[in-house]
Amino acid sequence: MRQIFIYSYSMTPLVPLNVLASGAVANPKKFEVRPREGVLIKVISSEGFVGYSDLHPWPELGDITLAQQLTDFHQDKISPQIERSLELAQRDARARAQKVHLFSAGELLKNNFLLPTPSQVNIALLEDIKNQNFTTLKLKVGKDRDAEVAAIERAAGLGFKVRLDFNAVGTPQSFEQFMSALSEAARTQIEYVEDPCPFDVDGWNRASQFARLALDNQYDKVPWQQLSQVPFDVIIIKPAKTSVSEAIAFCLKYDLKTVVTNYMDHPVGVVHAASIAMELKKKYKDTILEAGCLTHRLFKSDEFSRKLETDGPYLLKTEGFGVGFDELLEALPWQALKKS
Ligand code: MG
Repeated sequence: MRQIFIYSYSMTPLVPLNVLASGAVANPKKFEVRPREGVLIKVISSEGFVGYSDLHPWPELGDITLAQQLTDFHQDKISPQIERSLELAQRDARARAQKVHLFSAGELLKNNFLLPTPSQVNIALLEDIKNQNFTTLKLKVGKDRDAEVAAIERAAGLGFKVRLDFNAVGTPQSFEQFMSALSEAARTQIEYVEDPCPFDVDGWNRASQFARLALDNQYDKVPWQQLSQVPFDVIIIKPAKTSVSEAIAFCLKYDLKTVVTNYMDHPVGVVHAASIAMELKKKYKDTILEAGCLTHRLFKSDEFSRKLETDGPYLLKTEGFGVGFDELLEALPWQALKKS
């Protein structure tokens, strides 16, 4: 009999994390930093193997709420996100059973530096990031065009590759205006733009004239079966949210690049995502671009995030097996969720 346990946690963001979570769409001048709720999941298989994962929904981005997912689970309705969490827990359990860390899958992969509030970007900060050997910056944009354009110009001027993420809050027209406000030199430094506006083929075709596009939170809106080609060049895979095997199959079919990121979630989710990025890199080589798995510093530190060590853009192996954190995870006051 498989047993499932949960541990509820809350993480405190140090900055507004994105345009939707901060309430900035309704009021662009006012940011509210709300605590982020999630649960860690512990699965004990019928054979007695133990694995851990995270469940961290973003209702602001269209996810079913945490409470609803857990209620549904009690009634044997497994949400797609819980399905992902259970798969990841199983992956962790396999590694723990073999007494290996999930990072043993490959070589460390470089990460971008995430800046959720580009309006605070100044040269001193960028130079500091550069001195830490980061070469790619990801900026969350769509709040304050003038400040964002200025930040991109500064970053491009220092030689950074720049990734932009609009979280689908714009329109093809507002995106065109945004891109037109940038210098030619800055535009050439833009590696890609995530979700410039809500997905539809015509709008994205139009937007793709101004930058390489990347598909992230609009993934479920793509009518994959109907398209012989797609208006984007990159798929962002969030293992906490997307079936990795399905997304990789799309990448291969449409000849796309892939970026693996965590879901701005718990350090357990961070290590899971980073380990999948490494495994995919080993298998698919140049198809896999720099990852985006360093979000833990956006939150107030806790006993888990203090165990995450980095060397510039690289996340280092945690101590222990699977995703690591062995003693911390064992010691948590787990609550039984279900036996099946
Ligand atoms: Mg995104």
